[in-house]
Amino acid sequence: MGWHLVPRKHATVRDENLPPIQDDAAMVPCLSFLPKSPSVARLGITMALNWASFAGASCGSSNQQIEEADHYFMQLALRQAEQAFVQGEVPVGAVLIHQDQIIATGFNRREAKQDPLAHAEMLAIRKASRCLRSWRLTGTTLYVTLEPCAMCAGAIIQARVSRVVFGAADPKAGACGSLYHLLADPRVNHRVAVTGGILAEPSRTLLKNFFLERRRFRAAGQALA
Ligand SMILES: [Zn+2]
Repeated sequence: MGWHLVPRKHATVRDENLPPIQDDAAMVPCLSFLPKSPSVARLGITMALNWASFAGASCGSSNQQIEEADHYFMQLALRQAEQAFVQGEVPVGAVLIHQDQIIATGFNRREAKQDPLAHAEMLAIRKASRCLRSWRLTGTTLYVTLEPCAMCAGAIIQARVSRVVFGAADPKAGACGSLYHLLADPRVNHRVAVTGGILAEPSRTLLKNFFLERRRFRAAGQALA
């Protein structure tokens, strides 16, 4: 890979009494979270990830803190996307953050589950709700490597996610500014802050390589037939 990913450390279970996720055993447990990176911890990213402080961030240092946190968590979302890649799924990954902790992760599993709803964001949102024991994910930030589609944008609104950070734009299906901007529609009673283009290049490259590989694989299959 052409970019550096933060090494994953030991994950900690936050509440052992909660039931495991039954339908998604292959994914990282919902209740695990990653320790903060030293630089992120030093910068006090809890505040940076707080929706109120994000909305009110106006000075340079706050913006820098948010930017550092965005890159850090997007790298982790990219790692999720890589897992999708190696499993033959369109490589899209997501992580969901609450109070400076990763409470859920997900990667696209549409093929494995034969489920049109099994997008990375949907899986992460469902796990996060289990983790917080609430359908309201107020105060959370969702990091996803590709601009969410209309279905996922709808789920983000339903779950009251406070902020979405995505990597590559999706001109064919993106609903956070490309085709539609559902998260900023004034007719909807929940508004979501959106930041796009964070680590867009590696996110796009991963997708491009996946489709290239798939075309090659299919062409090789046809040549043999
Ligand atoms: Zn989607």
